[in-house]
This record gives sequence, structure tokens and C-alpha cells, in this order.
Amino acid sequence: MTLIDGKAVSQKVLTECAEKLTRLAAQGRKPGLAVVLVGEDPASRAYVGSKVKTCAELGMHSRKIELKAATTQHELLAVVEELNYDPDIHGILVQSPPPPHIDETAIVRAIDPRKDVDGFHPVNVAGLALEDGAAFVPCTPLGCQRLLLEYSIPTEGARVVIIGRSMIVGKPLALLLMAKGRGGNATVTVAHSRCRDLPGVCREADILIAAIGRPGFVTSDFVKEGAVVIDVGINRVDDASAKNGYRIVGDVNFEEVAPKCSAITPVPGGVGPMTIAMLISNTLKAERLIHG
Ligand code: NAP
Repeated sequence: MTLIDGKAVSQKVLTECAEKLTRLAAQGRKPGLAVVLVGEDPASRAYVGSKVKTCAELGMHSRKIELKAATTQHELLAVVEELNYDPDIHGILVQSPPPPHIDETAIVRAIDPRKDVDGFHPVNVAGLALEDGAAFVPCTPLGCQRLLLEYSIPTEGARVVIIGRSMIVGKPLALLLMAKGRGGNATVTVAHSRCRDLPGVCREADILIAAIGRPGFVTSDFVKEGAVVIDVGINRVDDASAKNGYRIVGDVNFEEVAPKCSAITPVPGGVGPMTIAMLISNTLKAERLIHG
């Protein structure tokens, strides 16, 4: 059984990005990422902090914009508009979820699609479906595909089952893995809460991907002998023995499932670190597309 090391692969991606940043700096070019946080949600604050920290470690320009929870839709749209026109900013990310009074869909649509490094704007969603290489692909699906590529896990002709149909993970990942070309050409099934005989559907998978948001949901009876399992889940569970009273677990019951797999991602240390790495990579792509 191979343990897929997302930390190592993410480091490799970030090293590639650092090399590109050095080459761009020699040409006087400096890609920049703006991260907008509205409100005080501790998990969102932590995500934003690590994105900005990664930029700093790479010597990449970043702007962290922290707005009060009471920020209005109108004020947030004005911030996005300013960033759309800021020549030093190539990627814009508004951390999800915003406070409930904010219409997230309208905010995503206000971001210039050329700076939409999260890949959530309808123009980029359509671009992915149309297999337009210039489209931005959401970072977590891109990270999952990169892990499969780095570990030479063939997707061509493979039966892939994805549990979860969100616009952040399940749907874009399905489009990515069924697209023509390297890292694609898979036969993809997308399962969800209304799926009949979910364990049976999952047992058909050569590659099983869990993006559900339920700790330890995928047990050994979901998994065919020798399958590859990618666990996207990030769930907090209470743990009195942990320093902060909780620990992070995936959607897969790792102890039960790992012995049946040919390869599996751990949580933490699997898909999680890939998401930030692909965000940086998407920001470099944005700068390239804007400046040529
Ligand atoms: P989401 O929007 O809540 O979607 C969850 C999906 O799981 C839905 O399609 C839902 O089906 C399906 N589901 C829920 N219960 C199910 C059940 N009993 N049987 C079958 N399907 C079921 O979640 P998400 O944003 O995609 O995130 C999924 C997980 O990935 C979460 O743990 C999240 O924290 C994690 N995540 C990790 C990263 C990362 O960087 N590694 C990034 C994003 C998300 P319905 O559509 O029918 O409701």
C-alpha cells in the first residue's frame, strides 16, 4: 500500500512556483494575490493566514484584506471592483463562507474571471466544461489530479467514483478527470446523498474519491481490493487528548480502508496541502495570461 504524501507533492509544486517567481522577478514581473476575509470565523482566518504566509515564504506579493462581519454587500463589491483594476493583483480570492447577509454568488460573479484563481466564476466553470486550457480550475480538484499524476496512477480508462457533487470539489473534479488528455479520460460516476446502493457503486471504482464532509463515512465495504482512495474530507472531531480539544479526520475510515488499497491519501497530509499549492500555481497562471 502506497501512502500518497500530499505534503511532499505540495512542496514540489511550491518549489516549481518559486523557480518561476525568480525567473519572473528577473523580468521585473511580480504576481500578486489578494485574499479577502469578511468576519471573524476562526477556520476561515486560519485558511487566509496560511495562504498569505505561503505567499510570503515564496517572496510573492500578497494583500490580505480583513473586513468587519458587518461589511455590506455593496462595500464588499466595491473592494472586489478595486482589486479587479489593481495592476499589482493577478489573483483574487474571497474566503468562503462569508457572513449570511452576503450573497456569495454575486460576489464570485463580480470577480474579473481573469483573476478568479479559485475557478468559481461561471466563465471558468464553463471553460472547464469546454476543456479550455485558459480556464481556472478550482484548487482542490486540481490538487487531487496532480496527486494522481505524481504517483503515476493511471486515469485513462479507469472507473472513478466521486462521492459529493459540490461546485467546489465533486463537479469540477468529475469534469477534470473525464476531460480528454493527461490525467483525464476516466469513466466518472458522481454519487451523492440520493444515490442508491452507495457502497455497491463505490466498489466498482478503481479510484474512489470522497468529498462528503462526514468523518470516517467510507468504510471497507465501499472499497474494491486494490483500489486507490483519495480522501478530500476535512472534519473536526472532539479529542480530549489533543492540545486544542479536537483533531482533523477525513471522510474515510483510514484504519479499515488502507489495508485494502493500492494507494491512499492520509488526513491530514494528503489533499489538504495541495489546495494552497494549486492556488499559488493558479495565481502564476493568471499573471501569465494577463501579461503574456
Ligand atoms: P458539500 O458542499 O457539503 O458537499 C457534500 C457532498 O456530499 C454533497 O454532494 C452531498 O450530497 C454529499 N453527501 C453528504 N452526505 C452524504 C451521504 N450520506 N451519502 C452520499 N453523499 C453524501 O461539501 P464540499 O464543500 O464538497 O466538501 C466536502 C468535504 O471536503 C468537506 O469535509 C470539506 O471540509 C472538504 N474540503 C476539503 C478541501 C481541501 O482543501 N482538502 C477543500 C474543500 C472541501 P447532496 O448533494 O445530495 O447533499
